[in-house]
Amino acid sequence: MFIYNSLTNKKEEFIPINKNKITMYVCGPTVYNYVHIGNMRPVITFDMVYKYFKYLGYDVTYASNFTDINYKITKAAIDNNVTEREIANKYIEAYLEDLTSYNCADIDYRPRVIDNLDNIFNFISKLIEKDYAYVVDGDVYFRVKKIKDYGILSNQNIEELESGARVEVDKKKEDALDFALWRSSSEGEVFDSPWGKGIPGWHTECVVMIDGIFNGKIDIHGGGIDLQFPHHENEIAQSMALHNHHLANYWMHNGHINVDGQKMSKSLNNFILARDFIKNYSSNVIKISMFKTHYRLPLNFTSDLLNEAINIDDKIRNVIKSANVYRNVNNLEFNANIKDDIFEKYMNDDFNTPNVISYLLELVKKLNELIRKNDNNLIDVASKILVICDVLGLKYNVDKWHKDDILLYNNWIDARNNKDFDKADLLRKKLIDKNIL
Ligand SMILES: [Zn+2]
Repeated sequence: MFIYNSLTNKKEEFIPINKNKITMYVCGPTVYNYVHIGNMRPVITFDMVYKYFKYLGYDVTYASNFTDINYKITKAAIDNNVTEREIANKYIEAYLEDLTSYNCADIDYRPRVIDNLDNIFNFISKLIEKDYAYVVDGDVYFRVKKIKDYGILSNQNIEELESGARVEVDKKKEDALDFALWRSSSEGEVFDSPWGKGIPGWHTECVVMIDGIFNGKIDIHGGGIDLQFPHHENEIAQSMALHNHHLANYWMHNGHINVDGQKMSKSLNNFILARDFIKNYSSNVIKISMFKTHYRLPLNFTSDLLNEAINIDDKIRNVIKSANVYRNVNNLEFNANIKDDIFEKYMNDDFNTPNVISYLLELVKKLNELIRKNDNNLIDVASKILVICDVLGLKYNVDKWHKDDILLYNNWIDARNNKDFDKADLLRKKLIDKNIL
């Protein structure tokens, strides 16, 4: 399969470090408020990536962190007159609730900064020992210029970066490009470190967590495009300093979300909270809206797109419902292990989900025809749709009926065939109430 690698700026054949295993890490949220649907794009994208690798039969380990120590959390704590831990715990819980309701909570590790402080101290100490970092007044900074290929990920050279960085001159730093690994602070919740009280810089935690969980280079590091610089560039710089590798072989970045042409952001106040969206629409709808655009491209969220996604979701739901009736009445089973070459061809081309959505609609059409013909092949086509939807994280109800329900259904068909319409209507209503029809 081929994946676009931001590190090399090209689509590359994907070869995992260990033949049957895949390791992946995606930067998680800073937990000081509820997430909006723009924040859900990396979550939904990498959930699809994770599920697809599992479909292919890989043993995948997926980790994503919580940034639960950060000045934004301190500010929220002060504003609300509570502790930083209360803010962090509240929004971690809310985030996990959101992920559960969006059917993308399945992951292997969710490390928190608060549990990794000693590892962070060790990591920073090693950088100081190797002369890649220096201490000034209780702050610790990273010496960017010691990294020869700094800028590799974001495609910038050090001179350009330098002239851009000079605008914000910090006299403490040796060089404008240097970034903080540890910041001295006395405001709010602070931690004792070898360099005094303060909080860790954001760019270190992910490298430390990857070291702790995976003990070396990983296959895939992902995140939103806005994290490419400086966050991911700085993660790479620290990894180069200590391990002499780029932390991950493949760096994947998803595009941001626009609302009617404008970037969705908290400052523009044009965002929809993930938990509010789901009150009116199913998570399938937002996923279909997202997957209709390739993950690397910016996504323009409009009411037309939303309506189109609702329409596609309805089409899939209706056809799956009918197929499930056929399966139950005929005592058949869907095949959860069925494979589909066309689906794989699209997914193996850097997760081309827009093509997958078009292909799903072709399968839906085909399934409708087979249902009309009462053709047993419909079970295979329905199974393929269900397997593809599963990888995309789309959920449809395929409950196995109780035998009483099968009886009820058969009675309805009999009543209809006998032209006993009053009885048929009554039974039909019962079946609808049970969500069978
Ligand atoms: Zn990160």
